[in-house]
Amino acid sequence: MKVLVLNCGSSSVKYQLIETSLAQIESNTDRVIARGAVERIGTSSAIHSYRPEGGEKSSEVKEILEHRVAITEIIRTLTDPRRGVIREAREIDAVGHRVVHGGEKFARSVLMRDEVVRQVEECSELAPLHNPHNLRGYRAARKILPDVPHAAVFDTAYHQTMPPAAYVYGLPYVLYTRHGIRRYGFHGTSHRFVGWRSQSILGRRREDSRLITCHLGNGASVCAIDHGRSVDTSMGFTPLEGLLMGSRCGDLDPSVIFHVMHKEDLTEQQATTLLNKHSGLYGISGVSNDMREVLAEEAKGNERARLAADIFCYRLKKYIGAYAAAMAGVDTLIFTGGIGENSPAVRARACAGLEFMGVHVDAARNETAIGTEARISPDGAPVAVLVIPTNEELIIARDALRLVEGVL
Ligand code: AMP
Repeated sequence: MKVLVLNCGSSSVKYQLIETSLAQIESNTDRVIARGAVERIGTSSAIHSYRPEGGEKSSEVKEILEHRVAITEIIRTLTDPRRGVIREAREIDAVGHRVVHGGEKFARSVLMRDEVVRQVEECSELAPLHNPHNLRGYRAARKILPDVPHAAVFDTAYHQTMPPAAYVYGLPYVLYTRHGIRRYGFHGTSHRFVGWRSQSILGRRREDSRLITCHLGNGASVCAIDHGRSVDTSMGFTPLEGLLMGSRCGDLDPSVIFHVMHKEDLTEQQATTLLNKHSGLYGISGVSNDMREVLAEEAKGNERARLAADIFCYRLKKYIGAYAAAMAGVDTLIFTGGIGENSPAVRARACAGLEFMGVHVDAARNETAIGTEARISPDGAPVAVLVIPTNEELIIARDALRLVEGVL
């Protein structure tokens, strides 16, 4: 089955056309037939980049004013006789949509129906910057491909197995019941994917494992997966909580916000921007939100860059320790995301000192594990430390397929 996976943001549509089947899932041989992105939608200089499997990447600049036009353009390219990968749109069997917030309504992926759309709309209050754009993409795609099944795959759904002790805040309980103020967690598809891959790599069943998965990208979160279920994760009501991130502050005493708003005379909007865009690695180092640049500056002796990297790694280490405690142990620690997959230095710093709980990193294995699946702990170490490149699109395609086949 060919599944078109769409990830629609406010001004972008990222996509992959993935060939998958139950047999291909079993053997991990699903194929990405083409991938691309349309960015700067709403302008006369939108950029459509495209790469077919085994082919060259190309980019085009053109006026694309809305998501519907962007998706039409994507289908046109996929079916283009010269560089396309299918002859006609009818070869697309299903569409998988990334939807950021499923609130408490969705604990797994679902096929899109009117009732589902209404419930996703209700969740928009919890993710006003994401869900409306995800839905806009869905509506556009539904018009263009009306006869195929469309599936919604939620960032939050995987964490719906968290127990109340992990998700209820220390606020008046009525705020939870009245407004849904609780921890939801994000990056669910990524944590789920690397957790699943680790079972194949290690030959272990999910029922037998206690995993800690570290998704370290521009946004970053850690997840405790106990016997196949997410039991805690570091992002909360929004993706702002938890680890230090590229430009987000992560954990913070909430009183600081009111104090700073007062001292700096900030509006609510300005304070939100400060916490989301001007904080984290960027805010501390003053250099960049990109860990590569922060580490390069640190190597040149920049003290604030060193501090930013130290805080990032220290907080990550604290979460790893906390989640081992939450599960009464850990047998597998997994790194993924741009930083987790590509930075031996961050992995080594976060794990240093965790030998007491069985976490050991082999320096030579760690140095060579860049962007590929690898075990970076020594053979026979109590905790298997793995690097696993994430693949959220693949999970979306597989969920769409399994929903269509009736096996999810
Ligand atoms: P993602 O959000 O998962 O795409 O990750 C993007 C982030 O990964 C970038 O902002 C960088 O901070 C980080 N990154 C990518 N490559 C490296 C690297 N070689 N070393 C350190 N960080 C990296």
